[in-house]
Amino acid sequence: MNKKIEQDSGKDPVQDPKEDLSENLIFSVSELANVAEGQTDRYDTDTPVSFDKEGDEDPVKAKSNLKGTIRIMRINREFNIQIHDMEIDVELECDKCLEPHIQKIEIPHAEIEFLIKPSQDIESNEDIFFVNTKNWTVDLNEFIRQEIILHFPLISVCSTHI
Ligand SMILES: [Zn+2]
Repeated sequence: MNKKIEQDSGKDPVQDPKEDLSENLIFSVSELANVAEGQTDRYDTDTPVSFDKEGDEDPVKAKSNLKGTIRIMRINREFNIQIHDMEIDVELECDKCLEPHIQKIEIPHAEIEFLIKPSQDIESNEDIFFVNTKNWTVDLNEFIRQEIILHFPLISVCSTHI
Protein backbone atom coordinates (compact mmCIF):
# COMPACT_ATOMS: atom_id res chain seq x y z
CA MET A 1 0.00 0.00 0.00
CA ASN A 2 1.40 3.35 -0.99
CA LYS A 3 0.17 6.69 -0.03
CA LYS A 4 1.40 10.17 0.32
CA ILE A 5 1.06 12.16 3.50
CA GLU A 6 -2.02 14.24 3.30
CA GLN A 7 -1.80 17.75 4.59
CA ASP A 8 -4.47 17.06 7.16
CA SER A 9 -3.49 13.52 8.09
CA GLY A 10 -3.91 12.88 11.78
CA LYS A 11 -4.23 16.52 12.68
CA ASP A 12 -5.82 17.66 15.86
CA PRO A 13 -8.63 19.93 14.68
CA VAL A 14 -8.20 22.16 17.71
CA GLN A 15 -4.77 23.35 16.58
CA ASP A 16 -3.70 25.19 13.49
CA PRO A 17 -1.57 22.64 11.61
CA LYS A 18 0.51 25.32 9.93
CA GLU A 19 1.75 26.66 13.23
CA ASP A 20 2.70 23.39 14.86
CA LEU A 21 5.18 21.52 12.71
CA SER A 22 5.26 18.64 15.15
CA GLU A 23 1.90 17.61 13.76
CA ASN A 24 3.60 16.67 10.52
CA LEU A 25 4.97 13.59 12.27
CA ILE A 26 1.70 12.46 13.79
CA PHE A 27 0.17 9.66 11.77
CA SER A 28 -3.29 8.22 11.91
CA VAL A 29 -3.48 4.47 12.50
CA SER A 30 -7.25 4.31 12.77
CA GLU A 31 -7.60 2.39 9.50
CA LEU A 32 -4.71 0.06 10.34
CA ALA A 33 -6.26 -0.67 13.72
CA ASN A 34 -9.10 -2.46 11.96
CA VAL A 35 -7.17 -4.62 9.52
CA ALA A 36 -5.25 -7.88 9.73
CA GLU A 37 -1.80 -8.17 11.25
CA GLY A 38 0.97 -7.47 8.81
CA GLN A 39 -0.88 -4.77 6.92
CA THR A 40 1.43 -1.84 6.32
CA ASP A 41 0.97 1.80 5.47
CA ARG A 42 3.86 3.49 3.73
CA TYR A 43 4.50 7.21 3.70
CA ASP A 44 7.03 8.95 1.50
CA THR A 45 7.82 11.89 3.68
CA ASP A 46 9.22 15.26 2.70
CA THR A 47 8.01 17.63 5.33
CA PRO A 48 9.11 20.52 7.52
CA VAL A 49 9.57 19.44 11.12
CA SER A 50 10.36 21.06 14.43
CA PHE A 51 12.08 19.30 17.29
CA ASP A 52 12.62 22.39 19.40
CA LYS A 53 11.06 21.95 22.76
CA GLU A 54 10.92 24.52 25.46
CA GLY A 55 13.55 23.87 28.08
CA ASP A 56 15.35 21.35 25.88
CA GLU A 57 19.04 21.43 26.83
CA ASP A 58 20.15 19.75 23.64
CA PRO A 59 17.70 20.82 20.94
CA VAL A 60 17.77 19.35 17.47
CA LYS A 61 17.68 22.35 15.16
CA ALA A 62 16.15 21.24 11.88
CA LYS A 63 17.43 23.20 8.87
CA SER A 64 15.74 21.28 6.06
CA ASN A 65 12.71 19.15 5.44
CA LEU A 66 12.79 15.65 6.85
CA LYS A 67 12.88 13.23 3.92
CA GLY A 68 12.50 9.48 3.92
CA THR A 69 10.14 6.55 4.08
CA ILE A 70 8.01 5.64 7.06
CA ARG A 71 6.29 2.28 7.30
CA ILE A 72 3.65 1.55 9.91
CA MET A 73 2.77 -2.13 10.31
CA ARG A 74 -0.11 -3.55 12.28
CA ILE A 75 0.93 -6.25 14.73
CA ASN A 76 -1.08 -7.86 17.48
CA ARG A 77 -1.05 -5.36 20.36
CA GLU A 78 1.20 -2.81 18.78
CA PHE A 79 2.30 -1.02 15.67
CA ASN A 80 5.78 -1.49 14.26
CA ILE A 81 7.23 1.76 12.97
CA GLN A 82 10.11 1.63 10.50
CA ILE A 83 11.99 4.53 9.01
CA HIS A 84 14.19 4.09 5.95
CA ASP A 85 16.65 6.31 4.11
CA MET A 86 15.79 9.29 6.20
CA GLU A 87 17.79 12.49 5.99
CA ILE A 88 17.68 15.97 7.39
CA ASP A 89 20.04 18.92 7.72
CA VAL A 90 20.55 20.10 11.28
CA GLU A 91 22.56 22.86 12.86
CA LEU A 92 25.44 21.64 14.98
CA GLU A 93 28.26 23.40 16.72
CA CYS A 94 31.67 22.95 15.14
CA ASP A 95 33.85 20.89 17.49
CA LYS A 96 36.83 23.13 16.73
CA CYS A 97 35.61 26.71 16.46
CA LEU A 98 32.21 26.27 18.14
CA GLU A 99 30.50 28.11 15.30
CA PRO A 100 27.17 26.73 14.17
CA HIS A 101 27.21 24.88 10.87
CA ILE A 102 24.87 22.69 8.87
CA GLN A 103 25.34 18.93 9.06
CA LYS A 104 23.40 16.38 7.03
CA ILE A 105 22.17 13.51 9.21
CA GLU A 106 21.31 10.21 7.54
CA ILE A 107 19.34 7.40 9.14
CA PRO A 108 19.48 4.31 6.91
CA HIS A 109 17.07 2.30 9.04
CA ALA A 110 15.49 2.37 12.46
CA GLU A 111 12.42 0.82 13.96
CA ILE A 112 10.41 0.77 17.14
CA GLU A 113 7.12 -0.52 18.47
CA PHE A 114 4.24 1.65 19.58
CA LEU A 115 2.21 -0.30 22.12
CA ILE A 116 -1.56 -0.14 22.10
CA LYS A 117 -1.86 -0.78 25.82
CA PRO A 118 0.66 -0.45 28.61
CA SER A 119 2.20 -3.79 29.39
CA GLN A 120 2.11 -5.01 32.99
CA ASP A 121 5.71 -6.11 33.00
CA ILE A 122 7.68 -3.32 31.42
CA GLU A 123 11.12 -3.38 32.99
CA SER A 124 13.11 -1.61 30.35
CA ASN A 125 14.44 1.84 31.04
CA GLU A 126 14.21 2.76 27.41
CA ASP A 127 11.58 5.15 26.26
CA ILE A 128 8.40 3.31 25.52
CA PHE A 129 5.98 4.72 23.03
CA PHE A 130 2.25 4.29 23.05
CA VAL A 131 -0.46 4.73 20.49
CA ASN A 132 -2.79 7.59 21.34
CA THR A 133 -5.96 5.54 21.50
CA LYS A 134 -8.16 8.61 21.88
CA ASN A 135 -7.74 9.49 18.23
CA TRP A 136 -5.68 6.46 17.03
CA THR A 137 -2.52 8.27 16.13
CA VAL A 138 1.17 7.67 16.63
CA ASP A 139 3.41 10.64 17.37
CA LEU A 140 6.82 9.96 15.81
CA ASN A 141 8.43 13.25 16.83
CA GLU A 142 10.30 11.94 19.87
CA PHE A 143 11.33 8.67 18.20
CA ILE A 144 12.75 10.44 15.15
CA ARG A 145 14.35 13.17 17.28
CA GLN A 146 16.18 10.48 19.26
CA GLU A 147 17.25 8.70 16.08
CA ILE A 148 18.66 11.93 14.64
CA ILE A 149 20.71 12.45 17.82
CA LEU A 150 21.90 8.83 17.67
CA HIS A 151 23.13 9.48 14.13
CA PHE A 152 25.03 12.65 14.90
CA PRO A 153 28.63 12.28 13.72
CA LEU A 154 31.21 11.61 16.44
CA ILE A 155 33.06 14.69 15.29
CA SER A 156 31.28 17.53 13.55
CA VAL A 157 33.35 20.32 12.11
CA CYS A 158 32.48 23.24 9.88
CA SER A 159 33.77 23.48 6.32
CA THR A 160 36.79 25.56 7.30
CA HIS A 161 37.99 22.77 9.61
CA ILE A 162 37.55 19.74 7.37
ZN1 LIG B 1 34.83 25.29 12.69
